[in-house]
Amino acid sequence: MIQVKAPRRVSGDACEQSRKPEGPAHMSINFSPELIRKYDVAGPRYTSYPTAVQFTPAFGARELAAQRSVIAGRVTGGPLSLYVHIPFCAKVCFYCGCTKVVTNNRARGADYLARLLQEIPRRAALHGGAREVRQLHLGGGTPTFLSTDQLAELLATLRASFHFAPDCETSIEVDPRTVMPDTIHALRALGFNRVSLGIQDFDPRVQLAVNRVQSESATVAVVAAAREAEFESVSFDLIYGLPLQSQASFSRTIAKTIALRPNRLSLFNYAHLPHMFKTQRQIDATQLPTAEQKLALLGAAIGQLSDAGYDYIGMDHFALPEDELSKARAAGTLHRNFQGYSTHAECDLIGLGMSAISSFDDCFVQNTKELDDYQTRIDNGEIPVTRGYALSEDDRLRREIIMGLACQGVVDRADVERRWGIDFDRYFAGEIASLAGMADDGLIAFDNRCIRVLTPGMLLLRNICMNFDHYLRQSDTQQRFSRAI
Ligand code: SF4
Repeated sequence: MIQVKAPRRVSGDACEQSRKPEGPAHMSINFSPELIRKYDVAGPRYTSYPTAVQFTPAFGARELAAQRSVIAGRVTGGPLSLYVHIPFCAKVCFYCGCTKVVTNNRARGADYLARLLQEIPRRAALHGGAREVRQLHLGGGTPTFLSTDQLAELLATLRASFHFAPDCETSIEVDPRTVMPDTIHALRALGFNRVSLGIQDFDPRVQLAVNRVQSESATVAVVAAAREAEFESVSFDLIYGLPLQSQASFSRTIAKTIALRPNRLSLFNYAHLPHMFKTQRQIDATQLPTAEQKLALLGAAIGQLSDAGYDYIGMDHFALPEDELSKARAAGTLHRNFQGYSTHAECDLIGLGMSAISSFDDCFVQNTKELDDYQTRIDNGEIPVTRGYALSEDDRLRREIIMGLACQGVVDRADVERRWGIDFDRYFAGEIASLAGMADDGLIAFDNRCIRVLTPGMLLLRNICMNFDHYLRQSDTQQRFSRAI
């Protein structure tokens, strides 16, 4: 048996009145080896539904331009969230599954930026540049591979092409190994108000095993600079399940994290998929923790973070109670997109740069994942979208249910029936039958009004969402995902 301290639950959802008491906030959860074996299966992280596995080259730039939601967006002027992908990294981290280009040649950054500056006005014309941008995120790769002057040029083009809200959340990922405190101040002066730091683990042995050696003093200096520059939010990315992590070493990493008090943190479950990501073949698989050890690492981390006052948002994310994510979780307005949890459910997402994904009510599209192809398509005057997906009515219904479980931990069945005009029990007869097993295992509770995730189920949210995933029933789909534990 593994003792796992329960996450602190956040209250406030549509089914509040039908809730049964579920015990103290810090009760222990027992996961038997049988239960771990049962739920340690491959499945998506549900940053979207359907997932990118369903994207097809048959849905490209022409189909995107004709899509109802894209045309309607231009007319109604609904708000936007923008994501810009900067793919370059000076050195490879062995665990990485991101779309990246490893190089030290800064000229490649300049060539890429020249193309981005062309894509931005092109996309603004397609989607409606007058729509209010409420969120901008620069991710990678390493966005600070570009110099401060280059980032200034990028922001100037974005601001000239789109209409930014005065209080737009403007965030950037930084790598403390390569960013000096001066750069942090310069980023703040450019208008970034949120910063996200890649850390993964403070333990030098683990850092060496994954080829990401990052001194604690560099991280501390970047955090201090971000506080001094008055960034509204500082967030950390950590990973559990890396080689050589032990209970004791990871507990020290979490303690060091708590001491630095980030507003938010992501604690990602390392997905070892060497058949899909070549760099992961450099990781010694014999040094990886087992599923049982990983669940214990997660459980202990949740306990430490809960004791330090952090709310467990769900699927790898934590935030201080005063953070917007915690408030959105409590208010039932939390949303999930390709960057993880978000507070901007009302926005269409436009992804710019190679591999970036855009999301609308009825479709997804992705830019080409190859750098040369991206640059050639831009030079040819194209929108560089090479694959996408048009959602059916059934996809949209299932997306709402999966996102309800992942973001609010609850689905109001009566509300779904009323708004979608279905008989829930009949439409989801198979899904309800499989949920019964999860109810027996103490992960969820359901009655004729609600499906509600219980505290142990918060650790297995992916598995619970998988019940409603139509595409996982296709035999070749499931093996494309990492294991849930
Ligand atoms: S983890 Fe980040 S810094 Fe490391 S290789 Fe991947 S994208 Fe680059």
